[in-house]
Amino acid sequence: MSSQSLLENTIKQLEYIGEILNLDKNIIEFLKHPKRTLEVSIPIRMDDGTIKVFKGYRVQHMDARGPYKGGIRYHPDVTLDEIKALAMIMTWKSAVVDIPYGGAKGGVICDPREMSINEIERLTRRYTAMIADIIGPFRDVPAPDIGTGPREMAWIMDTYSQLHGYLIPEVVTGKPLSVWGSEGRLEATGRGVAICTRESLKIFNLKNPSIAIQGFGKVGYYAATSLYDMGFKIVAISDSKGGIYNKNGLNPYKVMEYKNKNGKVIGYENSKDITNEELLKIECDILIPAAIENQLTKENANDVKAKIIVEGANGPTTPEADKIFEEKKIFVIPDILANAGGVTVSYLEWIQNIHREHWSIEEVNKKLEERMVKSFKDVYDFSKNKNTSMREAAMMIAIKRVADALKDLGVWP
Ligand code: NAD
Repeated sequence: MSSQSLLENTIKQLEYIGEILNLDKNIIEFLKHPKRTLEVSIPIRMDDGTIKVFKGYRVQHMDARGPYKGGIRYHPDVTLDEIKALAMIMTWKSAVVDIPYGGAKGGVICDPREMSINEIERLTRRYTAMIADIIGPFRDVPAPDIGTGPREMAWIMDTYSQLHGYLIPEVVTGKPLSVWGSEGRLEATGRGVAICTRESLKIFNLKNPSIAIQGFGKVGYYAATSLYDMGFKIVAISDSKGGIYNKNGLNPYKVMEYKNKNGKVIGYENSKDITNEELLKIECDILIPAAIENQLTKENANDVKAKIIVEGANGPTTPEADKIFEEKKIFVIPDILANAGGVTVSYLEWIQNIHREHWSIEEVNKKLEERMVKSFKDVYDFSKNKNTSMREAAMMIAIKRVADALKDLGVWP
């Protein structure tokens, strides 16, 4: 499925939920469009002396409940439509966990794996300078996404601060600890995924449940280690090169040691190599897609054996697959809830930065735990009351919150 259809699907979903909620059509029309879209052409001097021009975007969907907020993606397949869809999804995500942020997303069409660190730094700094007019601590606060991490966030903070002449750590979240990052931010999304998984297991009460995780990056790895530390059994793990399976369980710390040495998880000791497609259909109780969008489709949904799906990635399930999962009574914890741990700790980092404070890991994790458990319960109770799926319940809660804010703000002028 193309990224064009991710945007179409996101808009269709908004229209559908708007109808169920009986929302004013004008509000839905307002919400369908990002408030601002910025496209930049970023000239970079490559190490070999040539100049390459990269295309970059920053899309700001909605700020009715607070500053725009969303990650920056470095990937060769980035498209403007994809970024628009992800910006809208961020609006719902901030709202479902009731954080005072709106939604935004950024992206640069590039392949960081093919670039040197110096090239990535020049790209990040120039991109930051080119979007500097529209970001800011109370305007739009970027964060990491696919292909970016603490290192890039430090460069963004430094570039923005240099342009303004003083240190402004609260302009971006997901920074390294040495430069105003928060304890627990790196692990936060994966930890939130693990908390949602654990909460769902209180409902289903499966004996010695087995877990398969697609993607072994920031989300997949920390979901794996958090679940492993909670005592759960992880039977399959994959990255973009393929996956591994061991029905008796894998130690994600050891798998990461192996990946750091070999650049891939396949070939890991005492496990069977599998493809990413096989991982999605593997014998397991819980499936955690934590790589990229559109992985669970009408082509493979019928073969999924898991009883619970926890969407670590954004948009890993197509609407057709979602329908199949509903028919098969598979319990799906939607992305906007399951991976909201990242935006939650980003918010905690931002508060610490504004107050020039540094909280302990215990304090951060306690606040993350409370918000994730409460949000999970709110969505689950809502879904039971309205006899609807977790996805619809999460969307209804989120869209209602944003629509209420918009209604009270009115349209200026
Ligand atoms: P990342 O770049 O750190 O990791 C991505 C992982 O997916 C890597 O292990 C990569 O090898 C793997 N991968 C890439 N293409 C794949 C493919 N075709 N099949 C299987 N695996 C593949 O990115 P991340 O930050 O972990 O983000 C993963 C997903 O989670 C994305 O959808 C992102 O939007 C979403 N997300 C991330 C955060 C965050 O805080 N990082 C927060 C919310 C949502």
